[in-house]
Amino acid sequence: MTQDLPHFGMYIDGRNVPAESGEWFETFNPFNGQPWALVAKGSAADVDKAVEAAHRALTAGEWAEMTATKRGALMRRLGDLIAENSQSLSDIEVRDNGKLLAEINGQISYIPQWYYYYGGLADKIEGAVLPIDKPDSFVFLRQEPIGVVAAITPWNSPLFLTTWKLAPALAAGCTVVIKPSEHTSVSVLKLCELIEKAGFPKGVVNVVTGFGNEVGEPLVSHEKVAKIAFTGGEAGGVAVHSAAARSMKSVTLELGGKSPNIIFDDADLEEAVKGAISGIFAASGQTCIAGSRLLVQASIYDRILKRLVEFAGQAKLGDPMELSTQVGPVTTQQQYARVLDYIGIAKDEGAKCALGGGPSTDTDLKDGWFVQPTIFSNVTNTMRIAREEVFGPVLSVIPFETEDDAIRIANDSPYGLAAGVWTSDVRRMLKMSQKLQAGTIWINTYRAGSFMVPFGGVKRSGMGRENGQDAIREFMQTKSVWISTAAETPNPFVMR
Ligand code: NAD
Repeated sequence: MTQDLPHFGMYIDGRNVPAESGEWFETFNPFNGQPWALVAKGSAADVDKAVEAAHRALTAGEWAEMTATKRGALMRRLGDLIAENSQSLSDIEVRDNGKLLAEINGQISYIPQWYYYYGGLADKIEGAVLPIDKPDSFVFLRQEPIGVVAAITPWNSPLFLTTWKLAPALAAGCTVVIKPSEHTSVSVLKLCELIEKAGFPKGVVNVVTGFGNEVGEPLVSHEKVAKIAFTGGEAGGVAVHSAAARSMKSVTLELGGKSPNIIFDDADLEEAVKGAISGIFAASGQTCIAGSRLLVQASIYDRILKRLVEFAGQAKLGDPMELSTQVGPVTTQQQYARVLDYIGIAKDEGAKCALGGGPSTDTDLKDGWFVQPTIFSNVTNTMRIAREEVFGPVLSVIPFETEDDAIRIANDSPYGLAAGVWTSDVRRMLKMSQKLQAGTIWINTYRAGSFMVPFGGVKRSGMGRENGQDAIREFMQTKSVWISTAAETPNPFVMR
């Protein structure tokens, strides 16, 4: 391990600290496969310190006493600071994650909107006075923060996905312990500098870094954590959900997908091709919403396949820091190997490789984790390449005959995160939006998202929703308060 690399400690109780163990681990730049920084390697002892700090901040002191209006003001200040520091945050994300600077610039400059939106919402969550059927009673409802939140995030959009949890949790008045992916921990540690500068009291936001088994597991089962907001893979989601059940915690799970993107022959075909490309090759396919199953009506199948191959075949692979690059590396070496494995499985299963099908052959990119944009035709929906999440730039193109065929194939999946439909027929738009089993349906667009619009999955893609007004409720709980106005307590042996 190269000790002269920059070191990034954890952020606990308003202080930047090394791990209790004193250990560090390397974080890598996917463009050249080299470590570029060392991150504190946390354990249960660090988790305990962070949760205790969050619990103290929740139950007493400045944050616990703060009005929702003041919380909102702090959040808007944080949004401003992120906007002012967007370039340095973007640079870290590209170095740690390999995502294109062109895309990260857009993501980071959009993040402040979450803090403005939820900051504005913070003092608009109202309780209620209930009409009540019992005489001499006054009943009202309080909306209270649910408690300490564990926010566990994956590597594919580190700050963006952290924000989806952090902004509504802070607006609700919760305190938070963030556990970023072990592959992309640095940007959220930089965010903590801005959180401090914005004036958030110590202990309100904490970050523990390290691995799923060493940091994630003790965090999820900690008795003072009330809510887990998890984004990650299916295996991690199942483990987190089971641990949450054992310790009786509320959970939101944003998991993977195998989303169908469906092109009908009445669509604007050139736009549909662009939508298919953006659905799978943007972010090198490392998005939960990747449109990795492209369902194409048989009458236009050959035409669409030809255009896809032409279009994706011209995509420029390269340094993610260069704004002209269109496809960057895969984020981790492990994921790179996994994507290549899936390409092999697809070939063995009889899918026909129409484009790509291996590592990049560009010698300038030989040190990075680059996979060629890959398109498979002759795919059936029973093949593993059509059923399992690859999380890489690999598209399966599946033919269908009728609208009902498309619905049947699309819904024949364990997942249900998103679906795309390309058509010019309004009746079909409405029918598809009703029949497709997914949390988000895009019609004549793909991969659109906003802080205002709920997002989440059905089936094995998870539960609960992030974004939109309802997301703040995921971090609150209702308390019912009864006040008796009767002069006397009636028979104490009988329920009132
Ligand atoms: P992952 O499940 O391996 O890890 C996610 C996070 O969970 C990491 O911080 C990891 O350290 C932690 N973790 C792992 N096991 C844990 C455990 N037992 N207890 C507590 N924490 C644990 O996922 P990943 O490989 O980092 O990310 C890719 C996955 O995330 C893909 O499946 C992708 O579809 C999914 N994802 C979903 C969404 C969504 O919103 N639905 C968004 C982005 C990514």
